[in-house]
Amino acid sequence: MEVLKRRILEEGVVASDQVLKLDALLNHQVDPVLTMQMGKEFAERFRDENITRVVTVESSGIAVAFATAYELGVPLVFARRKKTLLADPDALSERVPSFTKGIVTDIMLSRQFIHENDRVLFIDDIIANGDAARGMVKIIQRSGAHLAGFGVVVEKCFQAGARTIREQGIRIESLVRIASLSDGTVQFAE
Ligand code: 5GP
Repeated sequence: MEVLKRRILEEGVVASDQVLKLDALLNHQVDPVLTMQMGKEFAERFRDENITRVVTVESSGIAVAFATAYELGVPLVFARRKKTLLADPDALSERVPSFTKGIVTDIMLSRQFIHENDRVLFIDDIIANGDAARGMVKIIQRSGAHLAGFGVVVEKCFQAGARTIREQGIRIESLVRIASLSDGTVQFAE
């Protein structure tokens, strides 16, 4: 997505060889026009999949997942991050390490909001090692719903996450793929 590449070059900050700060676009501030464009792009790519529900994890995935759900005309459900898991008989949960925070968090999704007959599109902001995404994939699969695909705004190709998801046979669509952040510069993959 060319407009997103341009905005990343203008507003992204390379924090290290591993981390691209996207606070201006995804993680602290949201541009509603750009976000709706991203949602439209995901909706077009997954239009034929008869999606019944969009799923994301709080918090940075919510805006673009909302835009996607709006375009597809389906509900958005966001998995919540809980410090303690009070026994909730309806909850599906997974413990995942957080790439940026260096801590472990529990993500949970109530069975109230995902059903066996759902065709789910999972949307997230960035994939690095893929812990968060693998956790969500497990939750969606355990719910009995069909995971129709995974849309991610930024795929960092030099980290293993997206590859491990593709190896499970899951379709991933990335709006932008980054090959390297070496020498303080963003190199996009072709
Ligand atoms: P993973 O579980 O794939 O290792 O990391 C995914 C999550 O960590 C993303 O949802 C994102 O919030 C955060 N993250 C991973 N890499 C980056 C990065 O380079 N920049 C920012 N801003 N967040 C990242």
